[in-house]
Amino acid sequence: MSHPYLVVGAGIGGLVAATALARRGHRVEIVERTPELTAVGAGIILGANATAVLDALDIDVRPAGLPLESLDVLNAAGAVIQAMPLASSTGLRGQMLAFHRAELHRVLVEFLPANVTLRLGTQVVDVHESADSVSARFSDGRAGEYTVLVGADGLRSETRRRVHGDVPLHYAGETCWRAVVPGVAVGAAGTETWGTGVRMGVIPLTGGRVYTFLVAVAPEGSPNQANSDVLARFAALAGPCALARGGMAALAPGELHMLHHDLYELPAPCWGKGRTWLLGDAAHAMTPNQGQGAAMAIEDAAVLALVIGDGVSDPAEAHARYVAERDARVRRVQLDSRRLGEVATVQGAFLRAARDLLLPLVPGKLAQSQLERLAAPGIQIAGRLREASSGA
Ligand SMILES: Cc1cc2nc3c(=O)[nH]c(=O)nc-3n(C[C@H](O)[C@H](O)[C@H](O)COP(=O)(O)OP(=O)(O)OC[C@H]3O[C@@H](n4cnc5c(N)ncnc54)[C@H](O)[C@@H]3O)c2cc1C
Repeated sequence: MSHPYLVVGAGIGGLVAATALARRGHRVEIVERTPELTAVGAGIILGANATAVLDALDIDVRPAGLPLESLDVLNAAGAVIQAMPLASSTGLRGQMLAFHRAELHRVLVEFLPANVTLRLGTQVVDVHESADSVSARFSDGRAGEYTVLVGADGLRSETRRRVHGDVPLHYAGETCWRAVVPGVAVGAAGTETWGTGVRMGVIPLTGGRVYTFLVAVAPEGSPNQANSDVLARFAALAGPCALARGGMAALAPGELHMLHHDLYELPAPCWGKGRTWLLGDAAHAMTPNQGQGAAMAIEDAAVLALVIGDGVSDPAEAHARYVAERDARVRRVQLDSRRLGEVATVQGAFLRAARDLLLPLVPGKLAQSQLERLAAPGIQIAGRLREASSGA
């Protein structure tokens, strides 16, 4: 019997990779260092490329998500400078979903197939590769032999460090606060409002809640502030931002849980080698400006399972195919995300005014077709997954 597959990290990428491999008939073990699965983060948007892959894997996330009708960019006064109606966009209707992260995570865990074992509170302490397998020893004293070890252990991946050494992360120049706020009615449009050195997203979730992210240009490692001081930094932003700030201000002390993180990315993808493969943030952490980091992890997971297929006879060749399929796609998305951040945070008054004047001139149809181009490879991967499972 062939060895099972080991996935390190039960984030979005690791859970989807485990499901995708298990659906191909493989036994999979996941080790996750946290003792309890309490997803860190507030909300998340999954683009059509990601939801198509989840659909193809029969992971039904729809009941947990809210379909967004549009994704609009607003100026500080709350006027729309770029509208992107999703409902009228052919092929994308209802497929871009917004989630509370914990709820998305719960669904991904619930849908793990029976041939997946999840071990919490466990880390890999030692790895050894041979011609036939990769063996790992774990912090709980166990050991095992595997066909491939999939490092899905996030931005500060230990698996990446083992294979590629210390790859310095690049600070994106911005710090970010995130929260989920109950009782804020903003309809079904997601918005991002661009001010001066600050921007704020307000994304509707199920149950009358919104997910808000507040991003400010700041030196790396700036200390966190009291919630009221954070909100004061964003006071100039009107429209949905004012509603979300009102909702946050109305919460009783201790009820507003704001997560605070500096934003980092990996300068270029690292994919592992031999029998140790990387995916998701471990391979290519990117800025969140395009809302595509988790979507790329989900696409990676699907392609990894497609490349592995029924098994791996030549790991170097299979790994090369995986990298060949993913590298250009991920680099493109990573770069576009970086560039979008540069436009959003442009500092000079003249450049900002030009941006706010020019963006409304971009036809909605053009913005939609860009979004469809972004989603197309994921939708194609989903089709291949369906074909593979019907032939399995
Ligand atoms: C502010 C912000 C907003 C974002 N918004 C979006 C969005 O709207 N849409 C989108 O698609 N993406 C978004 N992203 C990106 C997205 O969050 C990430 O790309 C995605 O979560 C990566 O998933 P992952 O599974 O690769 O890594 P992670 O989610 O980081 O999961 C890694 C897992 O590995 C575990 N782990 C770590 N080290 C070890 C170890 N040594 N042993 C065992 N387990 C370990 C961790 O505990 C964790 O559970 C956003 C990111 C940020 C910062």
